[in-house]
Amino acid sequence: MEKFYRDSWVEIQLENIIYNIQQLKKRLNKETEIYAVVKANAYGHGDIEVARSALAAGAKRLAVATLDEAVRLRECGVEAPILVMGWVRPEHVYAAADYGITVTCYQKEWVEEVLSLSLPKPVTIHLKWDTGMGRIGIRKKEELLDILPLLKNKNFHLEGIFTHFATADEISTEHFDNQRAYFEELLHLFRANWDGEVVLHTGNSAASMRFPEKMFDYVRFGISMYGLYPSGVVKKEKPINLKPALSLHSRLIHVKKVDKGTPVSYGATYITEREEWIGTVPLGYADGIRRALQGAEVLVNGKRCEIVGRICMDQFMIRLQEQAGVGDKVTLIGTQHEETIEMDELAEKLSTINYEIACMISSRVPRIYI
Ligand code: PLP
Repeated sequence: MEKFYRDSWVEIQLENIIYNIQQLKKRLNKETEIYAVVKANAYGHGDIEVARSALAAGAKRLAVATLDEAVRLRECGVEAPILVMGWVRPEHVYAAADYGITVTCYQKEWVEEVLSLSLPKPVTIHLKWDTGMGRIGIRKKEELLDILPLLKNKNFHLEGIFTHFATADEISTEHFDNQRAYFEELLHLFRANWDGEVVLHTGNSAASMRFPEKMFDYVRFGISMYGLYPSGVVKKEKPINLKPALSLHSRLIHVKKVDKGTPVSYGATYITEREEWIGTVPLGYADGIRRALQGAEVLVNGKRCEIVGRICMDQFMIRLQEQAGVGDKVTLIGTQHEETIEMDELAEKLSTINYEIACMISSRVPRIYI
């Protein structure tokens, strides 16, 4: 959003994204490079801006979930290699080949359909192996042996192989170790049946930060590039002192002193217990501020203030600790004076994870890059 009139905005500190990438790079083996994961509008941070900063910081490639996300990056002039980690329909492989976008392959039927197309140029693919995530990927050795001969065809350029860990952010490494061991087994089989060189990538944020020495040619760095820890376990271990890039702010648009017994918002679920200062904030559930955040806190002039009454579509109310003025800054995620509200605090309040909070701030809230 180039120009906007709202009094609510997200601030993205791109230098923190750059910092987080540089810190990871220092931890990784010299030969291991980074995919910056910029799916879902870069976890709500802005795909184009984050992609450019990540590449400037030393990430070599980009990863997204859908072909549309990849095409958008290309259309905006991003030239780095882009991998679509999710499903792309066989008939859309034309577009992928045309835009020079790498797609993910894991089904014999998909390969057979692509073989029946007359592609003007080969499509670059990465094979996805399901070593224990149970989502998408080749699971059995027989499946791999079935697919490999079909890929020796002019329609395909097999460039890479990857898998995804399900528990790299947990204390127990048992499942993680099993996944790694099975990946090695499949790799052994692959090498016995394939001549060309491929790049390998397995690690997400948790795996790449916690076990940098166990990574292959690339890691896929998502949540922690944005300065957020993938879990409480990793946050406690703190392999890298990450810097969060996103903060969320607004400004008071109405301030009033009300009598004891004054109802606030729909359903009159909150009634003031004494004479209170009530402030109105121009953000609501249409901006991703979920109704269940009633009772959460925001910062005004460095002080924590509770969200009182139901959150509306475009506005919510807070109980101010003291008189404040129209225009005073309200921080929902970020720091004011000595106080900080982390994304994890909101995640806990909503019984979810920081990933979901980052993604839920809607496109109606302008992003400012500083
Ligand atoms: N790789 C794949 C296949 C993913 O689906 C994701 C994100 O969900 C990532 C990498 C990045 O994971 P993280 O954000 O935990 O770093």
